[in-house]
Amino acid sequence: MRPEQVKRYYENTSPPSLQPWSLERKHVRIVTHDKRFIKLNTIGNRVNEKALWKLCTKYSPTHVYMSVLNYLFPESVGLKRSAKYAYPVGGEYVFDVDNYLFRGVETHEHPRTWICIACLEVARKYTIRLTELVEENYENIAIVFSGARGFHIHVLDFNVRDWTHYNEHDPVKSHEVARFRYTLHLARQLDARFDEPHFTLSVDPVRIISVPQTLNASTGLVCRLIGSRVDLERKSASRILDEASSSLAIWGGFSQLPLSVKR
Ligand SMILES: [Zn+2]
Repeated sequence: MRPEQVKRYYENTSPPSLQPWSLERKHVRIVTHDKRFIKLNTIGNRVNEKALWKLCTKYSPTHVYMSVLNYLFPESVGLKRSAKYAYPVGGEYVFDVDNYLFRGVETHEHPRTWICIACLEVARKYTIRLTELVEENYENIAIVFSGARGFHIHVLDFNVRDWTHYNEHDPVKSHEVARFRYTLHLARQLDARFDEPHFTLSVDPVRIISVPQTLNASTGLVCRLIGSRVDLERKSASRILDEASSSLAIWGGFSQLPLSVKR
């Protein structure tokens, strides 16, 4: 996508409410058209939805990311070893289900485009099964279409203390240990129940993830909030792609756009 199209997307859509996330607790970064990484939190400046949309109009970013952890001082987040000085105060655990993992497993012909609907359908089914498993431990789960080939499962009520002792002197390490243990637990369950051999789980607590409702300018698709597992069950892969299209916001015809749109 051209930068002016990205700009038009952010100009023509209103900043969405990102509840249940608290964006102001997040460290936020964007990637620009010329592949620069820009940290949006500056000293004393937290990024809310309104400020984010304004900055996206200014920079026309290719991708918009936020930290999975929430911080008391998100502007202090830098390298991993310094993240503890930003005082992490919880945060979600995110699974990426990306359908490149299934390429080679599926025997159909993939189209030569970014998105293969058949593979996205496989990713959708896998996301539903993985979410069912997570629901045995947690209930506050939000599923987001990644804006490309898969889904992000945000486990919003993930709690470090469920899996490890919380060390106040090294909170980032505690987050990492808890994620590692929960991942092991899930991996055992997955082995026992699922025949699919492919999944990846990142235990890195300082990783970043796409901000819901922002634009993936590589594909032109919105990284769109879907909702719960039941919401995902009700939608086919092709409907998800239709709803994630950004062309209405960019070229007009706003009435069908899933985001709230300025008129
Ligand atoms: Zn495919």
